Amino acid sequence: MTQQPIREIIIVGGGTAGWMSAAALSRFLPRQQTRIRLVESEAIGTVGVGEATIPTIQSFNAMLGIDEDAFVAATGATFKLGIRFTDWRKRGETYFHPFGRFGHDMEGMDFHKLFLKLARQNRCADIWQYAPSAVAAAAGKFERPHSPAKTPFDHLSYAFHFDASRYAQFLRQYAEEHGAERVEGKITHVTTHSETGFVDQLTLADGQTLSADLFIDCSGFRGLLIEGTLETGYEDWSHWLPCDRAVALPTQNVGKPVPYTHATAREAGWQWHIPLQHRTGNGLVYSSRYMDDDRAEALLLSNLNGQPLSSPRKLSFTTGRRKSLWNRNVVAIGLSGGFLEPLESTSIHLIQTGIAKLIALFPDKRFLPVEMAEYNRLMRNAYDGVRDFIILHYHATQRNDSPFWDHVRTMSVPDTLTHKMELFRSKGRFFRFEDELFSTPNWVAVFLGQGIVPEELDQFVDALDDDKLAHSFEEMRQLIRQNVARMPDQSEFIRLHCAAP
Ligand code: FAD
Repeated sequence: MTQQPIREIIIVGGGTAGWMSAAALSRFLPRQQTRIRLVESEAIGTVGVGEATIPTIQSFNAMLGIDEDAFVAATGATFKLGIRFTDWRKRGETYFHPFGRFGHDMEGMDFHKLFLKLARQNRCADIWQYAPSAVAAAAGKFERPHSPAKTPFDHLSYAFHFDASRYAQFLRQYAEEHGAERVEGKITHVTTHSETGFVDQLTLADGQTLSADLFIDCSGFRGLLIEGTLETGYEDWSHWLPCDRAVALPTQNVGKPVPYTHATAREAGWQWHIPLQHRTGNGLVYSSRYMDDDRAEALLLSNLNGQPLSSPRKLSFTTGRRKSLWNRNVVAIGLSGGFLEPLESTSIHLIQTGIAKLIALFPDKRFLPVEMAEYNRLMRNAYDGVRDFIILHYHATQRNDSPFWDHVRTMSVPDTLTHKMELFRSKGRFFRFEDELFSTPNWVAVFLGQGIVPEELDQFVDALDDDKLAHSFEEMRQLIRQNVARMPDQSEFIRLHCAAP
């Protein structure tokens, strides 16, 4: 059978997921061959949050050929070098999860194992002092990597904090320039084909009807097509991630924006602090089982630095993911596909993953089951890996000062996470499952930050001479410090290259 190319695509929703999908598809599908339309309803609006990202966003922007300075200026973005976690392991303790690596491996041995060997002898500094991004973050510095690198440590791995609505606008302009068409209106009715069950037609409130071969459901938590029409089913993970509410409130900046996200644990959840060029994003994520909405709002208001710029915005959600993200001729991308709370800023990354895998497995009108099955397998793995990493932050706590922390500390966790924790706890070993997002330095930062320290070490680390090792570590630390000392302040870098107009 010959291929029957997709000629019409409808994207339902114009939030971050919708416009990222429209931008990417319009970049790769010539407008003469495939018509791309995006339907959104101003009356319904978007979720309006989602400001912190991880470094993978750079490859999305690069794939679109977006100039980074133009993007930073247009979205009021700042640079993000990692996340500072306060009060997660114990009250009064802080650790940093930096982007990029710690130090470098030596003689084939993982850096963190060598670090642990020296740490047992008190012959090294805190682990974050060997991570260029963490040292630069602590000093408020930023610089793009040199090309070619002058030393192994002048490469700062970075992402952005940006204004989500400005990002959607920015991508809308890009997508429209590449031929995508926007349709304003509220979808009130969806019909399916009587034999195949495929989505056939959308009807808008004004009576207009729209048909397509492929539908991308970016309609947010409601999952208009994937759930509302196709009843695909949802895997609820709230027994592992009990936070189900958030209250968000932007404030004026106080002082210079720092180049990192700050996540502070609270009595039944945690608070985010995300500095942009023109304002600061704040919010409290909490579990309604352990804290009511009034208490959450009061707690957030009592922990703000700057003047509020609006009234608090309340959101509720159920952590989990669709059982299948691709069902018949509908692919769910963004919140319609699932939601993991923003602790490690992974939602926009999962949108990007959904788009990249859709492009890699792009269907024709036959919708081959093997392609859909592979997409669903890859996306399930992507969500599940992130889920385990987020649960780790809660479960590996020593806090016992509230019923919420007692619950997450003592709850059972997925077997896949137990396996990783046991491997690390015994001899400091870590293995990435397939192409899961987070890799050894990410897990090591959180394992150690949350107090999971290996009981023994691989016997191979004994082969290295302790004095030489301590000397190399000190050289690394000094080199990183010297590199960072030469870097400009983040605010100065932005002023020179990419200030918002
Ligand atoms: P939405 O923004 O909800 O967009 C849905 C779209 O569908 C809208 O355009 C709406 O008009 C349209 N629509 C719906 N129904 C209809 C209809 N009947 N007819 C026509 N149009 C319709 N992610 C991160 O990566 N980093 C973060 O720091 C982060 N923080 C977050 C904090 C919180 C509290 C929450 C809840 C989420 C956060 N996220 C974060 C997730 C991030 O906000 C989302 O992944 C992102 O905004 C994408 O949302 P979306 O486009 O899927 O949905």
